[in-house]
Amino acid sequence: MLCHMTDKPRIITGRFAPSPTGALHLGSLVAAVGSYLVAKRTGGRWLVRIDDLDTPRGIAGMAEDILATLEEFGLEWDGEIAQQSESQDAYEAAFERLIAKGLVYPCGCSRREIALAASAPHPDDDCLPYPGTCRSGMRTGATCRSWRIRVADEDICFEDLRRGHICQNLARGCGDFVLRRADGGFAYQLAVVVDDYLTGVTQVVRGEDLLSSTPRQILLQRLLGYPQPAYCHLPLVTGPGGTKLSKRDNLISHHLGNWKGREGALLLAVLRFLGQEPPAELTGAPCREILLWGAAQFDAGRLPYTGGELLLG
Ligand code: GLU
Repeated sequence: MLCHMTDKPRIITGRFAPSPTGALHLGSLVAAVGSYLVAKRTGGRWLVRIDDLDTPRGIAGMAEDILATLEEFGLEWDGEIAQQSESQDAYEAAFERLIAKGLVYPCGCSRREIALAASAPHPDDDCLPYPGTCRSGMRTGATCRSWRIRVADEDICFEDLRRGHICQNLARGCGDFVLRRADGGFAYQLAVVVDDYLTGVTQVVRGEDLLSSTPRQILLQRLLGYPQPAYCHLPLVTGPGGTKLSKRDNLISHHLGNWKGREGALLLAVLRFLGQEPPAELTGAPCREILLWGAAQFDAGRLPYTGGELLLG
């Protein structure tokens, strides 16, 4: 039950953190099942947090819809549901600590200006490499658009349970990154690090689309003196031939039609997608039984290196 990561023992804790921007889809179901089974297999608890930081993109009623879907798949969480919208004070305190370290500066650059300044095509897909224009002050007359953190020209490395040893040089990869927007809103990178710390998360199991965010999050953990959780980034569900799934094809309802009563079949397909071999006797079994099998048998060593289509039996 306990692992000794730093000075005091911590309860093994996994989590699933959906954003309420749409219904639970195939990719997020994989992340939910994967994070649940890795936590349960190691005797830990599994938390659910609603990542509603990005309020304009949130859709009313989606958080409830996602939670109801998790319940239909038998994915029972431990403790209270957390919500990012309720943690603003904690983000503020962490932000202030980074300011006090002299690591944060105001930036007046627009996305367009940053894109124009980027000299070469960028290897990391999710952020424009920031060239450091405002590091030593904004140009006269510029208005602050965001607050950025200085990153050093050094590799940040970690062990991913599935992908192995991963290193990224943040200075070359994405440059000084945004912690807060001028409207006061906090960036996902800061919020997730603070939330995971506050809720005692010791293992982060999520989709590979977030792998490139992990070095930024590890940097923030180090600067804030938080212990580093274990990481496992799961393979991504794609369409045929590795194509990106359309919004419609990603819907659970698209695959199962009126899927009530067929959740077990999809759960078994998710287990197979994650490289596991559930026995034939589980065909037709209720979700709870399938999850109990997974909690006892899940083998992270079998996770496939590449993603692909999620095929229903
Ligand atoms: N809320 C994020 C998403 O839905 C996931 C955050 C995380 O797992 O770190 O993509």
